[in-house]
Amino acid sequence: MNLEDLQFAQRYPFSGTARKIVAETGLNLQDVSEAVTERAQKMILASAKQQKYDPQIGNYEELLQNEVLAFPVAKILLSIIAKPELYSKFANMFSKSAFVSLQSESDETLCDIAKDLGIIIKFSGNPEEFAEIGMLQYLSADFREDFMKLANQRLEKGRIILSKNEFVRFLSQAIYKKIFSSMPADTKQIPNSLKTIANSLSKQAFSESFQAFNAKLSGNIKADAFPPCISELYAKMLSGANLSHTERFTLASFLVSAGMGTEQIIAIFKNAPNFNEKISRYQIERIAGSGNKTNYAPASCAKMKSYKLCIRNGELCGNVKHPMQFYRSRAFPRRKAQ
Ligand code: SF4
Repeated sequence: MNLEDLQFAQRYPFSGTARKIVAETGLNLQDVSEAVTERAQKMILASAKQQKYDPQIGNYEELLQNEVLAFPVAKILLSIIAKPELYSKFANMFSKSAFVSLQSESDETLCDIAKDLGIIIKFSGNPEEFAEIGMLQYLSADFREDFMKLANQRLEKGRIILSKNEFVRFLSQAIYKKIFSSMPADTKQIPNSLKTIANSLSKQAFSESFQAFNAKLSGNIKADAFPPCISELYAKMLSGANLSHTERFTLASFLVSAGMGTEQIIAIFKNAPNFNEKISRYQIERIAGSGNKTNYAPASCAKMKSYKLCIRNGELCGNVKHPMQFYRSRAFPRRKAQ
């Protein structure tokens, strides 16, 4: 393997080139080097904390190779931990770093990466009408950003015309899907040494993000008084799970009603894998309304049931009719529950 291939594989550790290097080195899970497991753990922790992963290893072949080998080892460790929200954060971190690298690749390399991802595409070479892609393939990328939705694309005879920038964005979304869907891997034959590392990583990945955030909660908000339904959504959001629109709306309207400020809610929503500050801010401000009056009241228990978000805990919830009633009676026990 040459230096160029190693550098490419390090930039795109999901690629065929990277898989070939892993196969050539004969990576054996029973005997993974400490240097490789250390890199794998760094990848996982950086993704769990939603930090940028930029190892800056230049031209050192051994370090590049360790990075390439660490990627499948990290996926194995994540598969042992078995938390989809961590798969999503991991895939998101590599999709974002690939997005940055893809922007400076040649047209030919972009074409090769597309082929490697199984994307059937027709290239024009013109940056404004760079690629043509079938509608179904485009929809499979499942874009959440409004500007990438099908309705905002140029459509000609059933095919989408993408500029070079849009195509790079499409590729990075396809990379997210490829990495996310490659987990969980089969963990039946995994040695105990990797299981031990995974257990300790799991505790770190979760406790650090929870502690860091709960330390920021201030004022009158008492997360330990949240009802079970909201606690569940809150924990899912903090751990980076991809909540549905209804779940996000329910959580945001509850937090607004509990008195949490827009900035704090945005800090929580930043954990979402596809967080967009502009859209989130707009939605939260709409929910919050102006003055003391919120525009959208949080859902009642009956509504929560119809959304299938009620996880009533008989002992805890008792006869409560509204999640806010539950919260107020626990957060401010001397006040009369409303
Ligand atoms: S009963 Fe109400 S407060 Fe309790 S989990 Fe269901 S929706 Fe939430």
